[in-house]
Amino acid sequence: MKKFLAIILSALMIFSLAACGETETTTEAQGDTTGAPESEEAAEQITVQAGKLIMATNATFPPYEYTEDGTTIIGIDAEIAGIIAEELGLELEIQDMEFGSIITAVQTGKVDIGLAGMTVTEERLQNVNFTESYAKGVQVVIIPEGSEIKTIDDLAGKKIGVQESTTGHIYCEEDFGAENVVAYSNGTQAVQALISGKVDCVVIDNNPANEFVKANEGLTILDTAYADEDYAAAVSKDNTALLDAINEILKAKIADGTIQQIIEKYIPA
Ligand code: GLN
Repeated sequence: MKKFLAIILSALMIFSLAACGETETTTEAQGDTTGAPESEEAAEQITVQAGKLIMATNATFPPYEYTEDGTTIIGIDAEIAGIIAEELGLELEIQDMEFGSIITAVQTGKVDIGLAGMTVTEERLQNVNFTESYAKGVQVVIIPEGSEIKTIDDLAGKKIGVQESTTGHIYCEEDFGAENVVAYSNGTQAVQALISGKVDCVVIDNNPANEFVKANEGLTILDTAYADEDYAAAVSKDNTALLDAINEILKAKIADGTIQQIIEKYIPA
């Protein structure tokens, strides 16, 4: 009996998903708002899968998201998402993917949120909404000890390693030319390239930079910071109900010190 009910439910869900898809296409094609009643219905279930909050991340970004055992994703973002899910009465599911795939996953409704030490930028705001910012990041430069790179200007003409699609990647291409920038699919690989001398430095966020420098001898971080940033969670532009719900939770958890506590657990002040 239960199984039968489940089949009917899933058939209904597929049907309503298909109906949503159609409405969206028609609405877009006609450029009008005939889809309004459907979007009201959609607001009732505010996540992609009933009962779940699906978070996309790239788990090579300690201490925001990483694994110690190769499977369980831990870190500041994982804990914040856990609190958001709990407050919403949802079960958290974390999907690990390349950083450059996260925005698309959010945009196309494959996941509910992107939470990945992600910097709020004008360009990304064209594709997704961002929640309240919950942390600050700084782009810094990792160099080998004794490097001749002493200032940001010294990066000119050097081979710069970055993580694909990150702000470090975008800024370095703008400032130093794409031909001088080598993009790796994650920070770990970029740092490996630095250690093996394939690049002269790595531009990456300060917190993972500190972790990478701690874990690998002979590396250090340039005193001058490259760029200051705000981290926030990305949510689909079609899901303002979820955006609003998360913002309320974040505001409360920032105000009562919970977020700061989580950050300090991983980054002792
Ligand atoms: N903060 C950087 C960005 O948003 C890097 C984030 C990351 O690599 N996870 O581009």
